[in-house]
Formats: sequence, C-alpha cells, structure tokens
Amino acid sequence: MVVKCPTCKRPVAWLPENTFKPFCCERCRLIDLGEWIMEEKRIPGEAIDLDIDDNEDHFFH
Ligand SMILES: [Zn+2]
Repeated sequence: MVVKCPTCKRPVAWLPENTFKPFCCERCRLIDLGEWIMEEKRIPGEAIDLDIDDNEDHFFH
C-alpha cells in the first residue's frame, strides 16, 4: 500500500517500520504538525499579542 505524504505529496510506502507515516520523513511530519499548531494559535493569538504589548509598555515606561 502506498499513500501520499500530506506535506510534499511524494508516495510513501505504508510499512510498519515507517514511523512517520502518512508522512515520508520526520521533517514532513514536523512541518505539518507546526502548521497545524500555528493555525490553532492564530485564532486566540490576538489576545496573547495584546498581553505581550502590555508587558513591553511596562518595560519601556
Ligand atoms: Zn514528505
């Protein structure tokens, strides 16, 4: 059985020893994982950014 790597779209053999499946390699797995985490943080991210700005204001004034 062969699947496509979700990151680079290369064919990946679905083997028990392929610990990164459905990805072809650890790099592609981390890229996909990182994009997913960034998507997650983008929605509540504005509140976090405001907190950081407040801290910076205290620091500089
Ligand atoms: Zn890949």
